[in-house]
Amino acid sequence: MCIFCKIIAGEIPSYKIYEDDNAFAFLDIKPVNPGHVLVIPKKHYQNMEEIPDSDLQALILVVKKIGAALKNKLGVIGYNIHENNDLIAGQAVPHLHFHIIPRIETDCLSHWPGSPYLPGQAEDIIKKLSF
Ligand code: 5GP
Ligand code: ZN
Repeated sequence: MCIFCKIIAGEIPSYKIYEDDNAFAFLDIKPVNPGHVLVIPKKHYQNMEEIPDSDLQALILVVKKIGAALKNKLGVIGYNIHENNDLIAGQAVPHLHFHIIPRIETDCLSHWPGSPYLPGQAEDIIKKLSF
């Protein structure tokens, strides 16, 4: 059983915020900022490709609800929703989860760097990726 499945089962304690038939939400043990919440499906799916559409739809509505609660109840003024999909993207726990990370002006976090496409590169990608 993965660590998040153990949290859902109550075998590992957590600060639970919300639970319904499909979803479970709790405080991240090492928050980026206080109020950093993880929202997970109760069934073990590793990533976005594994979770069925209906479960994902239910899950994202919980993410939305918790974002609103952070604003309404904790006075958070904005937050990032983040999902590390697979190991290369930084996914440490192989149970799909959305991070909701409250932002504060003094947290000094910056957005990831970007750089323009090389000539022709965007066109190549579009040829393969458009559907
Ligand atoms: P990932 O890098 O997989 O997207 O993020 C995993 C997150 O799970 C990390 O932010 C980490 O702090 C959190 N985490 C790992 N183990 C536990 C735990 O046992 N309890 C809680 N509440 N959070 C955990
Ligand atoms: Zn799991």
